[in-house]
Amino acid sequence: SEQKTLLEVKGLQVAYGGIQAVKGIDLEIKQGELVALIGANGAGKTTTLKTLVGMVKPAAGTIIYNGEDSTRIPVHHYVSRGLAMVPEGRGIFPRLTVEENLWMGAYYRNDKAEILMDLERVYGLFPRLKERYKQLAGTLSGGEQQMVAMGRAILSRPKLLLLDEPSMGLAPIIVQKIFEIIRQIASEGVTMLLVEQNAKLALKTANRGYVMESGRITYADSADALLANEKVQHAYLGE
Ligand code: ATP
Repeated sequence: SEQKTLLEVKGLQVAYGGIQAVKGIDLEIKQGELVALIGANGAGKTTTLKTLVGMVKPAAGTIIYNGEDSTRIPVHHYVSRGLAMVPEGRGIFPRLTVEENLWMGAYYRNDKAEILMDLERVYGLFPRLKERYKQLAGTLSGGEQQMVAMGRAILSRPKLLLLDEPSMGLAPIIVQKIFEIIRQIASEGVTMLLVEQNAKLALKTANRGYVMESGRITYADSADALLANEKVQHAYLGE
């Protein structure tokens, strides 16, 4: 059965001043997919995510999201259009409590009963946050802050969840926990684009993947095929 295409990016180019960070990439994400975008530092992965939510304006190319041209959406519209971004460095509000941070995710919603259900769902996924709901988010550990950022994104009920380097700076055991949650969210039907430096873990978690190198997509395949690809193994999987 053909799933609906949720995101279709064609020929996307992004430049910062004279530097071309993204040099004409194509990406496609179908409803319900978990897609990994891997690649070395500076390959243009974060820039790609920022462009999808309107934080950066492309120089060329098109972004069709949920059937509409989103190439140049104003950044303040992305949440109301069903996109959620968990940025590198988490982007939480350090002086707000855990629960206040989570409520910020529901800022554009007014279905209070459903929000409360989603809040309980987030606390189910992250019992640690329930224990610490009154704690100021700035005093949480890195892994707990990542949980807050993901929980806040879930509270916006996204159609497409963009995760930028969820493993960054976390101890291996916490990374495993975060990726368990990513798998669980995916199994509940949330569509995700996952940017990761930890290519092996990302491909073991995702359905499909793209490899980005110096602003271009060099491989696009099922996650299993990328894991089995000798060139990808050699360059990105430490094998
Ligand atoms: P990383 O994993 O290190 O975050 P990345 O693949 O996400 O890497 P980007 O952050 O998208 O890469 O950066 C792509 C290129 O664009 C890099 O050469 C970077 O220095 C450059 N770049 C990113 N942001 C800016 C900016 N605001 N101004 C100028 N150049 C930038």
